[in-house]
Amino acid sequence: MSAEFERIAVLGIGLIGSSICHAVKKFGGAKDIVGHAKSAETRKIALELGLVSKVFDSPVDAVKGADLVILCAPIGACGAIAAAIGPTIEPGAIVTDVGSVKGAIVRDCAPHIPKHAHFIPGHPIAGTEQSGPRSGFADLFQNRWCILTPLPGTDEAIVAKLENFWQRLGSKIDRMSVEHHDLVLAMTSHLPHLIAYNSVATAADLEEVTQSEVVKFSAGGFRDLTRIAASDPTMWRDVFLNNKEAVLEMLGRFMEELSMLQRAIRWGDGETLFNLFTRAREIRKGIIAAGQDTAAPDFGRDPSHKG
Ligand code: NAP
Repeated sequence: MSAEFERIAVLGIGLIGSSICHAVKKFGGAKDIVGHAKSAETRKIALELGLVSKVFDSPVDAVKGADLVILCAPIGACGAIAAAIGPTIEPGAIVTDVGSVKGAIVRDCAPHIPKHAHFIPGHPIAGTEQSGPRSGFADLFQNRWCILTPLPGTDEAIVAKLENFWQRLGSKIDRMSVEHHDLVLAMTSHLPHLIAYNSVATAADLEEVTQSEVVKFSAGGFRDLTRIAASDPTMWRDVFLNNKEAVLEMLGRFMEELSMLQRAIRWGDGETLFNLFTRAREIRKGIIAAGQDTAAPDFGRDPSHKG
């Protein structure tokens, strides 16, 4: 089945939505891209940048004639969008999303997708701390994983077509269950963001003099946490509200390990500290070996942070 769609409707034109538009223009995958954005400002920018051929105030108008619909709004907004577009989705169309949590998307969106269409939840594991329609770029998905979580009974040929589409944009594909996705991402993405937000908040609560020193000497590690903590507050609020159980499970484990470290520091147990740090270093080496980052001292990110 060809991975070429007649018309893609991108609903929500922020970092991920605009990157999909750029990537399709560069690598193919559709003859036409139309979009919907909530604000007039974003709609104006989308046309100005040539991201879409047409932009609509209403998601309902955007999905007319589309054989691929991609929900790219914050997780908390997707249910209402799905409810609005449900009656207008074309027969045979694929409806997918890019949300960072899959259980909540299935809960909120699946009931609104008509039987004559195919709903396949998805999540490109690619992003930056930037947001909005100007932040996207065509190479965002290059060599990054895209996880699809097809629901039981989904037509295999349809899933393969969507996989093919993401591969054209540069992604490597993995498939897993909705529940497993949410548990894995709680550890690899959601917990690190929570720790970064909390570390930065702790520094912000320090007395003024110490705080200015934190900024001055931030290259000691703090700077890298602030990059993660600069991520979009709406998106991350929605992630934690919608992946509660998995995040609390991973947070519990994290706090047990942290208590163990606290105890090792208190009792001068250098061996425990050394062993844990050595294990952590091995994981970092594994990530570099898997091509998920580079060993460059700046983490291989270019100055525009588009890495
Ligand atoms: P973003 O840059 O903040 O863009 C969000 C877009 O959604 C904006 O175009 C916004 O419209 C629109 N929107 C917000 N509320 C809406 C509503 N009620 N109805 C319709 N549109 C609405 O966010 P993003 O980073 O692209 O994230 C979008 C999705 O991708 C999220 O579900 C997130 O979990 C997922 N994701 C993000 C990353 C990442 O690193 N950022 C990575 C993978 C997946 P206006 O501009 O008009 O306000």
